[in-house]
Amino acid sequence: MKKVYLDYAATTPCDPLVIAAMQPYFFEKFGNASSLHAYGQEAKKALEDSRETLATFIGAKPEEIIFTSGGTESDNTALLGVAYALEKKGNHIITSAIEHHAITEPLKFLEKKGFKVAYLGVDKDGLVSCDDLKKAITDKTILVSIMHANNEMGTIEPIAQLAQVAKEKGIYFHTDAVQTLGHIPINVDELNIDLLSLSAHKFYGPKGVGALYIRKGTRIETFMRGGDQERNRRASTHNISGIVGCAKAVELCQKNMEAEIKFQSALRDRLIEEIPAKISEVRLNGHKERRLPNNVNFSIKYIEGESMLLSLDMLGIACSTGSACTSSSLEPSHVLLAIGLDHETAHGSLRITLGRWTKESDIDFLLEKLPQVVQKLRAMSPLYEGKNT
Ligand code: PLP
Repeated sequence: MKKVYLDYAATTPCDPLVIAAMQPYFFEKFGNASSLHAYGQEAKKALEDSRETLATFIGAKPEEIIFTSGGTESDNTALLGVAYALEKKGNHIITSAIEHHAITEPLKFLEKKGFKVAYLGVDKDGLVSCDDLKKAITDKTILVSIMHANNEMGTIEPIAQLAQVAKEKGIYFHTDAVQTLGHIPINVDELNIDLLSLSAHKFYGPKGVGALYIRKGTRIETFMRGGDQERNRRASTHNISGIVGCAKAVELCQKNMEAEIKFQSALRDRLIEEIPAKISEVRLNGHKERRLPNNVNFSIKYIEGESMLLSLDMLGIACSTGSACTSSSLEPSHVLLAIGLDHETAHGSLRITLGRWTKESDIDFLLEKLPQVVQKLRAMSPLYEGKNT
């Protein structure tokens, strides 16, 4: 059976060149980077070279990077770390209504501990406004955390402008760049940010490794305590093979980014044009221009996202109805509700995300099968039937 993977925002395959770069670090070069002998020093060199590669890629200094176990840990470290470091200064944090659960759950935890969180709404395209941010700031605000691009609908937020608002008030700004790093250019100075989270498995690196950028001078409490790795900012033996893989993935993204943006956005735009031409009553979710090059998200009326997903899966096509973490729950996506969709429309959403190995023929296949699936499901839908009578 033909198999088409169109769920790159959930995770990406590891690039074979990444796997090759990681390979020696499982057996020949297995040392612990904290050991003083030659094995340890070999691992330490790989660690510091990787740190440099990543830092250079985002315009940071190597000492401003700590390696973590992925996006979730980086987000938790940023939020809890700043909250606890600055709790005497203030207890107010600002975020948006469309963040990933890796942000909203630690914030809910902080709310239970007495912190106050303001959730900024977004417009119909998913954009956060600078005016809303200005209005939400109080003299107790210690941190603003707004994602770089949304994982469900691909909207790219005006981070540089939002962060400038925070900077003028002397408030730290964190951005979750899990969906953008490696996919669109990032420079921490141009973005004006103090903290940034990333995760290797979203850009052709291995799962279980990521990093947090912490601008020099940012006050942050240690989240993971134990050994003195990462200058006492994150304990635990370094995942050297993963870190080397992350750096190799960064190197490949640097090399391929321009061509990938061009190719993927052309395929994306083809889907955005042809899906409404082939299927009636669809709505594009997310901003048309300020959009990730690889993201397409449509709400298809009178259809349940889950049924659509399973029918496509039976035909060999893998997509998503929302973020991978929520697609197993029956709750409509909080992101789609935040842009003003009603529950029924939000339930009928389909996220198609493209990547390094997506081919034009994959798009042809989807464009052939999706209208058939929708037609079949609508024929069985009491909502659709009611509409025709
Ligand atoms: N933040 C965003 C925007 C994401 O899309 C994800 C993963 O889906 C995460 C955080 C969590 O990253 P990880 O899977 O590396 O923990």
